[in-house]
Amino acid sequence: MQSSDHSPPLRPETCAIHAGTSPDASSGAVAPPIVLSTTFERAADGGYPTGFFYSRAGNPNRTALEGCLAALENASDAAAFSSGSAVTAAVLQALSPGDHAVFPDEAYHGTGKLVRELAVPWGLKVSFCNMADLGALRRALRPNTRLVWIETPSNPMLRITDIAATAALARKTGAVLICDNTWPTPIFTRPLELGADLVMHSSSKYLGGHGDVLGGIVAVGQSPAGKNLFERIRTLQTTAGAVPSPFDCWLLHRGLRTLAVRVRAQTRSAALIARHLSAHSSVKKVFYPGLADHPGHEVAARQMQDFGAMLSFQVQGGREEALGVAARVRLFTRATSLGSVESLIEHRASIENYALNTPDDLLRVSVGLEHVDDLIADLDQALSVLSA
Ligand SMILES: *Cc1c(COP(=O)(O)O)cnc(C)c1O
Repeated sequence: MQSSDHSPPLRPETCAIHAGTSPDASSGAVAPPIVLSTTFERAADGGYPTGFFYSRAGNPNRTALEGCLAALENASDAAAFSSGSAVTAAVLQALSPGDHAVFPDEAYHGTGKLVRELAVPWGLKVSFCNMADLGALRRALRPNTRLVWIETPSNPMLRITDIAATAALARKTGAVLICDNTWPTPIFTRPLELGADLVMHSSSKYLGGHGDVLGGIVAVGQSPAGKNLFERIRTLQTTAGAVPSPFDCWLLHRGLRTLAVRVRAQTRSAALIARHLSAHSSVKKVFYPGLADHPGHEVAARQMQDFGAMLSFQVQGGREEALGVAARVRLFTRATSLGSVESLIEHRASIENYALNTPDDLLRVSVGLEHVDDLIADLDQALSVLSA
């Protein structure tokens, strides 16, 4: 089921439950069965009656996941990979050596690492710029720019990129715009509707939502340039084979069904935590696009239905004080990653190889589904030492 089959289009909550799935025809099972078979029977005439023939090329659980995410992103098609980074690698490989691409100077650190360590030696020409500054992007674009990569809000400083304005600039240059939509999820931002050609996710985060499965997915809108690149990405998926297992697809598809309620509840808590920390004497600065004094607040309010459940804050003091707060929390788990049911806290500067600007006194928080009062009390006891 694709949203385009319906008029008017179904709302995200409904797509998440119904898109990509229907009761199993052979058993009547309502929850989809997991199809582990690597191969599929051909008909007597040599045809493939179900469309499946070998599970690297296609599998019912993967097709269901891709259909569901495509409906949520209002996309024409989607391709699931074994991780978000496998998506990034496939998008870069879909370009040609000598092509030029522009990346954000602040984004998920693995994206920058992949670009610098793998794509550049392979022959991709790259520039990095502050994607919150349209002038900086305009100066970075070249006649042979094929791709512009954005991530909004950015990691870990929550800078906001204006997706529609960036899409207009990219289109004028003839470049494809891809948006890493891992943080806002399609519940809060649908980049394809704002003019992006492609949208990608690390589904290891909110889409899976329980911190127990890795995955990545890329979806394409209606633009010919986007579809053209997507065709090469699809070939890389099925031919190079960085595909998720049927069980991983099943878990991710199950996660999508509760995505809307999870991210809305997490975001309600994140907004309260952001406001609480902003008024805290042991906190220097809070980075959350929902705060009116955030420099990207107006753009975020325009392109996001809500501001998401990720935030960062600088503590009074420096590196030692920040690490101390992370050491004292009891409910927040000190761990990387985000988007799961449990709240996580992380000192990003000590794990990012390529972060040039991440302050040493900064902690990043992924707000989970615990009661917000418990989370605030936990942060308060961890911060109280600083103001003592
Ligand atoms: C985690 C993450 C990735 C990488 O995804 P993996 O599934 O870990 O490979 C890419 N972009 C963002 C914004 C992320 O948070």
